Amino acid sequence: MDDKMSKSIKIDFNKPVMTGNELDYIRKAFENSHISGDGFFSKATQKLLEEQLGVPKVLLTTSCTHALEMAALLLDIKPDDEVIVPSFTFVSTVNAFVLRGARPVFIDIRPDTLNLDEKLLPEKITPKSRAIVPVHYAGVGCQMDAIIAFAKKYDLAVVEDNAHGLFGKFQGQYLGTFGCMATQSFHETKNITCGEGGALLINNPQVIERAEIIREKGTNRSRFFRGMVDKYTWVDLGSSYLPSDILAAVLLAQLEARAEIQKNRKQVWEYYAQRLQSWASKNQVQLPFVPEDCEQTYHMFYMILPSLATRQALMEKLRENGIISVFHYLPLHLSEMGKKFGGQAGDCPVTETVSDRLLRLPLYNSLKPELQDLVIDTILQFSP
Ligand SMILES: *Cc1c(COP(=O)(O)O)cnc(C)c1O
Repeated sequence: MDDKMSKSIKIDFNKPVMTGNELDYIRKAFENSHISGDGFFSKATQKLLEEQLGVPKVLLTTSCTHALEMAALLLDIKPDDEVIVPSFTFVSTVNAFVLRGARPVFIDIRPDTLNLDEKLLPEKITPKSRAIVPVHYAGVGCQMDAIIAFAKKYDLAVVEDNAHGLFGKFQGQYLGTFGCMATQSFHETKNITCGEGGALLINNPQVIERAEIIREKGTNRSRFFRGMVDKYTWVDLGSSYLPSDILAAVLLAQLEARAEIQKNRKQVWEYYAQRLQSWASKNQVQLPFVPEDCEQTYHMFYMILPSLATRQALMEKLRENGIISVFHYLPLHLSEMGKKFGGQAGDCPVTETVSDRLLRLPLYNSLKPELQDLVIDTILQFSP
């Protein structure tokens, strides 16, 4: 970026923030002389997540993408299996299963929460269906009661892509604890981050041992270290999905500061909601909807403008004022790959229109009200 341009940007869309002991813990990881995977900080981080969420096993991974790949391996997804996925999501939600040869069956979203529309599930089921992958968009829970009941009836696995939803709840229960497995992301753009990272939450204890093997290059290294086997050898499919303990050190520091991080994000989110509400209703702009039985994570503040043209115009106006706002997912069923699986315009009408009209505002935990006022005042001067 040249100097002129960087000076003209006043408000970034996202900014990774160090909240607590990140640097101290990195130093300690070196002092421990263990900076590869599964060291002190990895174990402490996994334990913190297991205890806080009440999950039988948490395994840190190098990304949410890799946690999803592990889930697909653990479910023994085979060529021609079908996996029901929202079209309105990040490509990894789908790619992880397609890598095993599965066929994605794209499902539309609800117009209110932008989560997978559970009422459409019966239209998507076939004898080849194997799994459903709900994404808790913006950290607002999907209707997990309906989704789990449907999955039980047809014997489908549920893997929650909970990249946005760490510590969110649906009907009082933590997101990520409903499906047989769930995946987290600690990418720079997420609420809690170590740059690049993820986790697999395992709610079905029967797959824990195999998960450890898959994550350790297909070897029984974990059992060997626990003294449960006397040889360390190749026993299954696998890859290298363990993050360095340096990254886990950063993660532990961030997770220990989770209350403060979430409190700050909540403040930013609520300030947007409060100041933009009347402008939004006057101008037919849709703001995020959080059902009463959901506790959200304040991951994202989005607005849905009346049209693509007005979305683009507002984005441009914000940019002229040095404010970076961004759109979000392009419908996966209309992507180059999606079309190869038969995706056609009109398959997921809500996804298609929302994708054109959605705009996300800057939101990070150190965003000061003075800067937020600049964003809000620029929006209030705009009439779509
Ligand atoms: C960020 C994100 C991912 C991918 O996370 P990585 O850790 O970057 O692999 C997957 N799914 C959703 C919904 C995401 O937002």
